[in-house]
Amino acid sequence: MATGAKRPKVDYGSEMNPLQNFLQWCNTVGLRLSHKVCVSKEGTVAEYGMLAKDNIEEGEVLFTVPRSAVLHQETTKVSAMLEKEKSSLESSSGWVPLLLALLYEYTSSQSQWKPYLSLWVNFKTLDHPMFWSKEERDGLLRGTGIPEAVETDLANIQREYTNVVLPFIRKHPDLWNPGTHTMELYTQLVAFVMAYSFQEPQEEEDDDKDEEEEDEEKTPYKLMMVPMADMLNHVSNHNAILEFTLDSLKMVCVRPIHKGEEVFNTYGQLANWQLLHMYGFTEPHQSNSNDTVDIPIINLYKVATQGVQSDLAQQLVEEKWEMLLELMQEKATFVFGKQGCLTDTELRSVLKVLCMSEEEFSEFKDHEGWEEDEEEDISLAFSYEGLPGLNASWKWLIHEAARLTASSYGDWEEGGSAPEGLSSRQQRALQVRCGQRSILHRLMELTK
Ligand code: SAM
Repeated sequence: MATGAKRPKVDYGSEMNPLQNFLQWCNTVGLRLSHKVCVSKEGTVAEYGMLAKDNIEEGEVLFTVPRSAVLHQETTKVSAMLEKEKSSLESSSGWVPLLLALLYEYTSSQSQWKPYLSLWVNFKTLDHPMFWSKEERDGLLRGTGIPEAVETDLANIQREYTNVVLPFIRKHPDLWNPGTHTMELYTQLVAFVMAYSFQEPQEEEDDDKDEEEEDEEKTPYKLMMVPMADMLNHVSNHNAILEFTLDSLKMVCVRPIHKGEEVFNTYGQLANWQLLHMYGFTEPHQSNSNDTVDIPIINLYKVATQGVQSDLAQQLVEEKWEMLLELMQEKATFVFGKQGCLTDTELRSVLKVLCMSEEEFSEFKDHEGWEEDEEEDISLAFSYEGLPGLNASWKWLIHEAARLTASSYGDWEEGGSAPEGLSSRQQRALQVRCGQRSILHRLMELTK
């Protein structure tokens, strides 16, 4: 094994390609890679990824990243400044300190993380929907929930950059400058953090129980950039996970990986719409076991008003809706996955209210709520096995709300096969829509 003294002198400005340069840097910072894996752009699903050079058993450690090589607000060169002024850096996302650290480190020729951050020149590979035009988003992703989520993100980015970041960097011209650290770069770094960062759960502090409410806005996790760990791509059927220990972070194999196969991390149990929104890619919808679709509560209300025959009945629906809005937000949704409803308790409550007779509803209001059905197994009742056994009026509401949701996409794959020669954006949008639509169709079948 090479000792420190025998290690070749590192020259970050050498002619090596960015990957070789990064791997050499890993060596110098004590990031240990198993000889059974390698990083490559060939044979992976997307750009850089990790491949098995040998068979790997469950439990084997693929690499170890020392905590000193992890980049976050406490390890960056500007950590003292971020700490000193942390009260002025508070924001709803909680991301500003890490983003300021990245603005600094990404543009500093002296950065300790330069060989790591130089892997992504101008972030050309990031293609989240936030970089698409509004017309493209609305055209390709209507009904999926993504356009609304992106509009919220863009408004937050603009607000945080203008109100928090810009005043701060103007105050510290020795470290940042608005000409280099522009909102465009800031937005790219937001997408980089979305797609490449890791969250380490933080221990809850017990002693300050009385101040719980004050602490509500505190982020319960630490956001960090973990070199090497973020070279791994994701699939729902992953074969490795990142473990956090006191001194280091370890990527551990969780099921056997054969020589030549790609090593996949998990970014979480994410539906295709979430993958596209946060990471800019989708899995083929059939193989994404975590895929979901949202049915907006308002669609249940619209369906409930469809069948009404009289003004009195209409008034009853309106009263029920008003009451439901006291319990839930108008934008609330019910989430259906590949096994059934994931928000079954809330859905059951809404169906119960919407299907009550006038007498039942007035009794319900007098008692200020419902009594729980102790015997009922809600998750079974709202699983795909259980759905056909629900009562007819509940099934009708679910069926029609699913139909209404499916009609909101209103696009060409309805009629059959997709047109030839789709762009990458069109293909990813199609995976989201087809996945959501296929869950809705299954739901409609089971509630006929
Ligand atoms: N492939 C990345 C690279 O070359 O920088 C490394 C993984 S990085 C943490 C996450 C990004 O990798 C995502 O934003 C997406 O662009 C890509 N990615 C990850 N898993 C993918 C997959 N299953 N299919 C397509 N792209 C994927």
